[in-house]
Amino acid sequence: MPVSTSSFSRLSPRSRRKQLRRQDPTPATSAKNRVLPNVSRKSHPGCSSEVAIKRNSSTIANGSCPSEGVDQFTMKFIEHALAHRWCLGEGLEIGAAAHNPFGLRSRNVALREAFYEQAQIDMCGEVAPIDIEASADEIPLDGGSQDFIISSHVVEHLPNPVRAFLEWNRLLRPGGICFIIHPLPSAFPGDESRPLTTTEHYLEDFDKAHDRSTHPLEGVNGGVGGHYHVASAESLDQLVHALNARALLAWERVDMEAVDTKVGNGFTLVYRKAPG
Ligand SMILES: [Zn+2]
Repeated sequence: MPVSTSSFSRLSPRSRRKQLRRQDPTPATSAKNRVLPNVSRKSHPGCSSEVAIKRNSSTIANGSCPSEGVDQFTMKFIEHALAHRWCLGEGLEIGAAAHNPFGLRSRNVALREAFYEQAQIDMCGEVAPIDIEASADEIPLDGGSQDFIISSHVVEHLPNPVRAFLEWNRLLRPGGICFIIHPLPSAFPGDESRPLTTTEHYLEDFDKAHDRSTHPLEGVNGGVGGHYHVASAESLDQLVHALNARALLAWERVDMEAVDTKVGNGFTLVYRKAPG
């Protein structure tokens, strides 16, 4: 029995798909040719980090995630042309989210965390399968084995981003690509008023070998697993420069977006590991 648009809009994404299947037996693969109900989404959470903040603060992100970037049938954000330009070959995505697909030839590296799995189900009815169950900064793969490593809305959740960068550098082949999308300070309530994390802070986290159990929580937006750090494209780029200067990395910035053209609430930095 057809459902009205108003009742349809109150359904979860999974229920919406079930209703659509009942109304139209055509396989989902032909969805693009189908006339769909006008499903509007009042809120449009764009990334797991937004949910991480919501978990601990009762606030939800402002309307910084553009709904026009959402496929109205799958309730997923559209793919990223810049990522397709740079992330060629086979690589890794750190912390993939089903609702924010990149469509690359990548394996998903993540830890199983019920909260994030539920967040993905809430947003699009699916969970991105985990191919390699590991933390971002300790991945059991051979060095030099990856053409690219991509992460979106992950770095800010790491208590020790430098340790992760060094691990990603180890895994990249010479000339490999590190592609990072990081939320803008204005994207999430509670981050905008925080000072940008300094290079010295990042380096101290590394020197003290901070992890989730030891990183101080004062000022951390969302508590354990939340937004440990706040960055602009310039401040995160300064950190990479500092790591280059210390010969810990040899990364050349090859592209950037002041506002990412994926979801639109972050910035994009693209680095190429020195060819040799
Ligand atoms: Zn820190």
